[in-house]
Amino acid sequence: MVYKSYRREPTPEQIAHITTLVKDWSIAHGLAVRPPPALVASESDPHGILATTAPVTLLPSPFPQVCFKQASSVQTAYNGLYASISRDEGFLASIVEEILEVDEFIAELWKVHLKVKGEGYSQKLSLGLFRSDYMVHQDLERPNSTPHIKQVEFNTIASSFGGLSSQTSKLHRYLARTAYGDLVDDTLKDGRNLPENASTETLGSGLRTAFKAYGESAAKHQTCILFVVQDQERNIFDQRHLEYDIEMNSDNVRVFRLPFSRILADTTLESTTRRELLYRPPHSPSEVYEVAVVYFRSAYGPSDYPNKAAWEARLHIERSNAIKCPSILTQLAGAKKVQQVLATPVENPATSILSKFIPDSTTRTSLEETFTNIYPLDQTPAGLSARELALDEEKCKGYVLKPQREGGGNNIYRSAIPGFLRSLPESHWKSYILMEIITPPPVQNLILRNGEVEKGGVICELGVYGTCLWNQETGDVLSNEGGGYLLRTKGDQSEEGGVAAGFGAMDSVWLN
Ligand code: ADP
Ligand code: MG
Ligand code: MG
Repeated sequence: MVYKSYRREPTPEQIAHITTLVKDWSIAHGLAVRPPPALVASESDPHGILATTAPVTLLPSPFPQVCFKQASSVQTAYNGLYASISRDEGFLASIVEEILEVDEFIAELWKVHLKVKGEGYSQKLSLGLFRSDYMVHQDLERPNSTPHIKQVEFNTIASSFGGLSSQTSKLHRYLARTAYGDLVDDTLKDGRNLPENASTETLGSGLRTAFKAYGESAAKHQTCILFVVQDQERNIFDQRHLEYDIEMNSDNVRVFRLPFSRILADTTLESTTRRELLYRPPHSPSEVYEVAVVYFRSAYGPSDYPNKAAWEARLHIERSNAIKCPSILTQLAGAKKVQQVLATPVENPATSILSKFIPDSTTRTSLEETFTNIYPLDQTPAGLSARELALDEEKCKGYVLKPQREGGGNNIYRSAIPGFLRSLPESHWKSYILMEIITPPPVQNLILRNGEVEKGGVICELGVYGTCLWNQETGDVLSNEGGGYLLRTKGDQSEEGGVAAGFGAMDSVWLN
């Protein structure tokens, strides 16, 4: 059985018609990215004015309603879980210390945390803009069984595509009204089973809540939110949608974009005990803003730290009184190793690590139901038997190997695992986790990428957004919200599905 959202094959004329509508609607509504450098020779775009449509499916993909509900219903529990993990420095230390010696990036992050801890954190509040990612799992031996979701990963830093995702839902709703005709079922055509997607609003509101909680500047400066971004960001409109949402839905919130490499040049720390972070916009040096919230859309991978100054810049922010989204501890809470430690089964579930963070057994079960098997590759009994799986030329085909990295393009899949592991010193293996491959039911769709339509089997990954603002010292949760989703779809021949990494496409769900 292959799932499709169209009832019969669209004709070439229909595909061409829908494609034209998608191209124009996308640009008209900012469902766009900056073009890949290879597509635009610099002489034809010397001023960087060109934008192009984001890769997108021509139709929403069919998605089981029960799975969508399940993913939405666990989001606030996940937010709370990761806030609690971020507050448990001892737990994070035990994980980090295991991989420090072989993972320089994690080691550097930890050093930044320890330095700030040494002098005392100034800001007690911490903000998370999270996205929990899933794939649908269906028992292949029991095709009539109820499908459920399995978590791919939980993102605690730079969780992207919220801005483009709500636009994608609107695009598909528009096409349902104007273009699909009797190509699709009535529940798609009349929009009944196309859920609202408040991803932009959810993330925008999370940032506004933290901004308000920061309070007024003691020195009577105007306060602001700083988006700390990468220098060459192609996915800029995704971020702009959030900025517009924040600035247009409040009277007094200013948002500025600051490239990570400009932190030390454009911001300073007050020499008070609170270490307020001040920002002077280069376009208006006479103005001074006190930064209430730093929102990182960078700083998540080694390539964001090309030199020592970059680490100084991260320390500078971490020391400051601004509310960080995320703090170093929250970033580390999102490490794949943490996910593995939570998911590795223990003999007595009542003593599991998860039970420490989530005492309520009903909530705990609802989270556990989304776990898939993940193993360490260390010297523990679980790690030693996982090593056998990983090195077995047949068994390895059911697994993916992941390092402690974010942003796509870092994993090793299936048959490539044994050779890869053997190429590494054995002492490095423990910084990877081994995860069972989730194989969702086959779906067919059409993807428009760089102006060309690809048709065929696709794999869909659902992300649910959540925001949480908590007091790192007392554990008080000031706000915990879930809302909005991302559906990312890739060709079934591709292992990686990141839209920014160039493999995936924006999509939306047709619930059935
Ligand atoms: P990153 O933090 O780099 O995004 P992910 O864990 O999300 O890392 O892995 C990247 C991609 O690899 C996912 O978007 C998904 O397409 C694929 N992937 C990861 N884990 C699994 C899995 N267990 N089963 C199937 N595909 C997976
Ligand atoms: Mg990630
Ligand atoms: Mg991912």
